[in-house]
Amino acid sequence: MHPVCVECNAKMNCDKNGAIVMEIFQGDKPYKLWRTDMYKCPICGFKVITGWANQPMAEHWESNFKKVLKDYKDEIVCKF
Ligand SMILES: [Zn+2]
Repeated sequence: MHPVCVECNAKMNCDKNGAIVMEIFQGDKPYKLWRTDMYKCPICGFKVITGWANQPMAEHWESNFKKVLKDYKDEIVCKF
């Protein structure tokens, strides 16, 4: 099921498949990167993240984490 915007009573559309989201810890430290789907309301433009991958694409303890962060930094759509 698609997310629905409660303000507009509108079905949200997928704006980007495979959008990358950064999970942070201790205030601002990169913790995990996740592949997700980003949906957008066609009326007000509100965006939500849903459709999470089962596993993170990268985690902070992995030896190549800094390289992955650098490679994908321009694709990260939000942090939480
Ligand atoms: Zn809306």
